[in-house]
Amino acid sequence: MQERCPRCHYKFEREEGFFLGAFVINFAVTEGLIGLVLGAFILTENANPNPPIGPVISFGLIAAVIAPILFYPFSKTIWLAIDLIAHPTELDTEPET
Ligand SMILES: [Zn+2]
Repeated sequence: MQERCPRCHYKFEREEGFFLGAFVINFAVTEGLIGLVLGAFILTENANPNPPIGPVISFGLIAAVIAPILFYPFSKTIWLAIDLIAHPTELDTEPET
């Protein structure tokens, strides 16, 4: 990740702990995906009392392990956008010399 935006010099690198919000966004998306997998499993279990467990485990692993790794850069971007909306007057655009 670059320290600043190459166009507007908006500072990306912040104090330690700043990206905890990005972690929370990533966690919520991951839990939502796991909830979708479990919901689909519960719905298909009504139609088939003995559903194959392999696809459920596969989709569960994708939702719980691979999705948060792939989504983490986007959660950081979303968190920076939320911070920019919340603190527009604190926009630090001066590049460090
Ligand atoms: Zn920019």
